[in-house]
Amino acid sequence: MIQRKLPTKSPRFDFERDEMIALIRQRGIEDERLLKAMMLVDRREFVQAALLNRAYDDCALPIGHSQTISQPYTVAFMTEALEVKPGKKILEIGTGSGYQAALLSAMGARVYTIERNMDLLNGARKIFEHLKYNIVSKCGDGTIGWKEFAPYDGVIVTAGAPEAPQPLLDQLAEGGILVIPVGDKEIQSIQITRRLGEKFQTREAHGFKFVPLIGKIGWK
Ligand code: SAH
Repeated sequence: MIQRKLPTKSPRFDFERDEMIALIRQRGIEDERLLKAMMLVDRREFVQAALLNRAYDDCALPIGHSQTISQPYTVAFMTEALEVKPGKKILEIGTGSGYQAALLSAMGARVYTIERNMDLLNGARKIFEHLKYNIVSKCGDGTIGWKEFAPYDGVIVTAGAPEAPQPLLDQLAEGGILVIPVGDKEIQSIQITRRLGEKFQTREAHGFKFVPLIGKIGWK
């Protein structure tokens, strides 16, 4: 799905991409650096060839292995909640297509990402290499985090969990933020938790749908 040349100029796709951004803006996303990065990181690079013409639809799309690239609005919502700034260190759990990681990297973050499915990770790595994203990745169970590079200014989990795994909270830097969908397997709320010393402050946004986070501190 990866190694192909995209048409560089296409008025139709430019129009659809602008529409996608306008919709996200309309739904309340205000971070201009994020919106600019969403203009630059071409979602077409991260979807299967057969779905190219739906790349800018505001919905999740299959990426193989029963997994999905998240809905653009959801990606925007979670990324805004992370308060990404250039040079910040961000850990992502669930690399999938690589789109979310690429977006974080385009915003100037130092990105670490973990994916449990080797095939998906290999696909994402090819795109990172092709588009020259400097992203550190590994195959493994992200529910235990990635101690080696902790602490993180932000941790983003792109699969739905039964609870926020404690190791991910423990690996936050002072003031760091964990963004994670938590709920049952059908529907989740996005929990946004900030570390303040030894305390954690959480707010929630309801009504999201993710593929399950499978692992030691996730679904079995
Ligand atoms: N961020 C991705 C979304 C992928 S869907 C994108 O932009 O495309 C969520 C991904 O989480 C799936 O690829 C799934 O395989 C992965 N996943 C599920 N449980 C995991 C775990 N414990 N550790 C790492 N990855 C996991």
